Amino acid sequence: MNSEIEKRYSHLNEMQKKAVMTAEGPLLILAGAGSGKTTVLVNRIHYILATREIFPSNILAITFTNKAAREMKERVEKLLGENADGIWIGTFHSCCVRMLRRDIEKLGYARSFVIYDRADQLILLKDTIKELNINEKLYEPKMVINHISDAKDKLITPEEFGGIYKDDFKMSKIVDIYKLYQKKLKENNALDFDDIIVKTVELFENHPDVLNFYQRKFRYVMVDEYQDTNKAQYKLISLLSAHHRNLCAVGDDDQSIYGWRGADISNILNFEQEFEDATVVKLEQNYRSTSVILDSANHVIKNNMERKLKRLWTQQDGGDHIKIFKAGDEREEGDFIARQIKDLVDKNERSNSDFAVLYRTNAQSRAIEEALMRQNVSYKIYGGMKFYDRKEIKDIIAYLRLIQNPLDNISLKRIINVPKRGIGAKTLDKLEEVSLERENSIYSVLLELEHADYVSTRSKSKLNDFITHIGAFMAMKEVMNVSELIEKVLENTGYISELKAENTVESQTRIENLREFISSAIEFEQISEEKDLETFLASISLVADIDAMDDDEEYVSLMTLHSAKGLEFNTVFIAGMEEGIFPTNRAILDETQLEEERRLCYVGITRAKENLYMTYAHERTIYGRRNYGVSSRFINELPKDLTESLNVAARNDKRQAKSNRNKMDESIKQNFALDAASFGVYSSKSVLDDTSKAGIDNSDVSLGSKIVHPRFGSGTVVSKDGSNVTIAFENKGVKTINLEYIKLELA
Ligand code: ATP
Ligand code: MG
Repeated sequence: MNSEIEKRYSHLNEMQKKAVMTAEGPLLILAGAGSGKTTVLVNRIHYILATREIFPSNILAITFTNKAAREMKERVEKLLGENADGIWIGTFHSCCVRMLRRDIEKLGYARSFVIYDRADQLILLKDTIKELNINEKLYEPKMVINHISDAKDKLITPEEFGGIYKDDFKMSKIVDIYKLYQKKLKENNALDFDDIIVKTVELFENHPDVLNFYQRKFRYVMVDEYQDTNKAQYKLISLLSAHHRNLCAVGDDDQSIYGWRGADISNILNFEQEFEDATVVKLEQNYRSTSVILDSANHVIKNNMERKLKRLWTQQDGGDHIKIFKAGDEREEGDFIARQIKDLVDKNERSNSDFAVLYRTNAQSRAIEEALMRQNVSYKIYGGMKFYDRKEIKDIIAYLRLIQNPLDNISLKRIINVPKRGIGAKTLDKLEEVSLERENSIYSVLLELEHADYVSTRSKSKLNDFITHIGAFMAMKEVMNVSELIEKVLENTGYISELKAENTVESQTRIENLREFISSAIEFEQISEEKDLETFLASISLVADIDAMDDDEEYVSLMTLHSAKGLEFNTVFIAGMEEGIFPTNRAILDETQLEEERRLCYVGITRAKENLYMTYAHERTIYGRRNYGVSSRFINELPKDLTESLNVAARNDKRQAKSNRNKMDESIKQNFALDAASFGVYSSKSVLDDTSKAGIDNSDVSLGSKIVHPRFGSGTVVSKDGSNVTIAFENKGVKTINLEYIKLELA
């Protein structure tokens, strides 16, 4: 072995080196989180280029997300500089598009083909359904798309699909739609997203010359996150690597989290059967996390039956305990997270970019976003849209703005045909023209339509319907809460029923987001002194302002657990650790889904390097419904001796709190129908007000004061900001405590 080359990898452990230097033949790197799988892949590319007589363009490396591909490219460029040019690093889709651009003519498409996104796809599908005279209500387009997409993931052609469902009336209609839809795509010289993979496989299978070309070109093929490949992707990889057989698959069966999208965990589990001569490398040392975090992750995943046993250890012995916080509600949960982050950043211990907040569903981000904004903490949402950027949220806000201010042409234009009322762009153009002429708002023009000759009678009646609705909402506004008004708008305009009729995952998400928006209005009504629509809208524009955030700033990363795959952060918060949220309600009833949720939890835990928090709320208004949360079973699956409850301090005061609670004023009780005993440092003020009187007064505490905390013991005050004091405890480190909630005594 060339010693200079070996020196390049001296920072790697023996197994990693072995994986890097096993260049030829099938190689499976099956290893747990943070064991350096992606690191090995990057170094392996370097090794192959340094030791084999090949070109960079002979290497193909595929990852799962654009973000992961970008990061891998950067890491390879760091190692190889200009020599990295020409290596194919990308996602399945980006690599396939490249190949199709070259040869798709062989399938009868032009090379200038377009890619249809979801919206284009829907339009085409609706045309298809119409042409077949099929009732759209029975064959809701998005539901049909999901069936087609599912078939494509499994490489099932329309003809094969027809064979499978020949005796099923409903499905046979979908087969007809699939066939015509596919024909129409071709007429439009278009591919949908799934086609990108399917057509590449088709190209390879029907045109051996093309396959032969790429098989020879890609002498080394590598796939990261192999556990999440679906059947079509698996086939593609098998075909591409069949000639040289230099396929390196990297993955972790414990992190397979896309079963619901057709990913097939058996692709990784059966690798050794498929390639009998495969070298299998297991990496067992984790370099990312402390042993507390790693042991916790291992402890949780052990509850899954269907897995390959793996050992994973770390040299980073010990570490901070996993911190569990039970909040009163989602607002308090958000505040807790935001304040923890802010405190550590203010103390210069961490910067914003050290933190990630992970959650199960996008709808949970709102309360966290708002709390971060209240604390002025910059954040960025990955792999999803910011709550207030979502279409359905923008739509409902546009309605509210118009109801509040009929002069708002922008909002009116946004929703005049949402949901669809048959008011076309031409009519709207005309209205706008007239409004410009008259120097009046479009809404005023609408009010004077009666004798207008510039719109048809048919349009007139539709426009009249619209202003009747808006007029009614304006009257309701005077007598209703904002939250009730929102419900009325969603109901009376048919917005919700349209979404319900779609009955797809996507429409379901939209409904959930709208419910979440209602939650935000209820919350507003509870805490704001002025409760009118105008104040509500003002409070929202404050929130929506975050868009103006400076891009160079360091920010906290917010994302779903799914998008966090492959990434790492110093400190991770997993929020919403409640039964019904994580695991989801659906998963609770289905063992297979439950195991997938548990793997998702394993992914979440193993993103953390040093600190992990799990938070849950006693009560949460989510999707417009109030839920009383029980902590997630995944919290209970953590080893008890590695966790620490941040609520314990308050629990010591249980009796005291209980008696205080009895004294509580009835209205407060309603607002904060909470278990006072479980309140932590950042709990709602009113409930424990009396307790603070029993302890020391705010003014008694100053820098250098010696105090005793019921749980943390003796300490010295090192800084003070209003009622927040930071205390260096003799045995428990430095903590920030709010004097309004926690009883301290002077030593
Ligand atoms: P995941 O399963 O989450 O995708 P992974 O197995 O791909 O994780 P990497 O992301 O490659 O793991 O590595 C995790 C961390 O460990 C990274 O910060 C990486 O730089 C570091 N690391 C990997 N190998 C070593 C090593 N031999 N010595 C020191 N640090 C290492
Ligand atoms: Mg990785």
